[in-house]
Amino acid sequence: METLINGLHHVTTLAADTQRNVDYYTDILGLRLVKKTVNFDAPDVYHLYYGNETGSPGTILTFFPYGNIPRGRKGVGQLTYTAFSAPVASLSYWMDRLHQYSIPYAGPYKRFSETYIRFEDFDGMGIEIVFNDDDQRPGWDNGKIPADFAVRGFHTVTLNEVNPDKTVKLLTGIMQHTLVGEEEGRFRFKAGIGGPGNYIDVLHSPKDVHALQGAGSVHHVAFSTDTDETQLIIQQQLAESGYNVTPVQDRNYFHSIYFREPGGILFEVATNPPGFAIDEPVSELGTALKLPQQYEPRRAKIEAELPEIIVK
Ligand code: ZN
Repeated sequence: METLINGLHHVTTLAADTQRNVDYYTDILGLRLVKKTVNFDAPDVYHLYYGNETGSPGTILTFFPYGNIPRGRKGVGQLTYTAFSAPVASLSYWMDRLHQYSIPYAGPYKRFSETYIRFEDFDGMGIEIVFNDDDQRPGWDNGKIPADFAVRGFHTVTLNEVNPDKTVKLLTGIMQHTLVGEEEGRFRFKAGIGGPGNYIDVLHSPKDVHALQGAGSVHHVAFSTDTDETQLIIQQQLAESGYNVTPVQDRNYFHSIYFREPGGILFEVATNPPGFAIDEPVSELGTALKLPQQYEPRRAKIEAELPEIIVK
């Protein structure tokens, strides 16, 4: 069978204040701001992309910082926790670092034989770090966090579902995932070659409240596909199975299709190419405001209305 889905591509979340979001992900978590652009559907709002040095698929966390919007609520029908991967030897480093920044964390706990800690960003987004030595991806040395301790990218995302059966059928069918573990109502699936960045957990959560979207809520999760051709095959399979899947959207750095999984969570399938170096060199990623072609004529006005961003 041809590999159509490799694993995770990116996670996109709503945020409130722009600068606090930048501070949290670049200064505290040590990710790189790899792209500073706008919401293609609403150019008065930034779209900020954080990732490893090059913004590889499976490392990319993106935000729409809407300013003063109310907080969301975690619950069913939502991606509740996004877990990053870091080396086992970095556990005490990360606990010390979070303590130093006065960010409360829970744990360390064990899950599927790995140690993890759990915390939130300034808007309440659920974050975890899973400590493991299976991750061959390089850490990014940003001059603040030693590369040996830096996060490598995503490990897993957790979907809370009242009734997981149809979601599981989608994941193990068209989305080409395989069940690799089950623990306390948590079903772990892997895609492609597996390993950190290629896991998705479905958490059976029949007693949870329904999620409310707001600051700190994940808007969608994107899965990686290799080419425009593999994307079209998935799109066709989804349509034939009754999913209301969108036409291909050009997001400049990847091409995207979107659909809702049976539990209500918005899924995207995004192509790996062309990537973030398409409009600025890797050494300068995230330094200039990049606009899609259709907004270039309005650049001066858009720039004047967006808040200034400082990467410390
Ligand atoms: Zn997306």
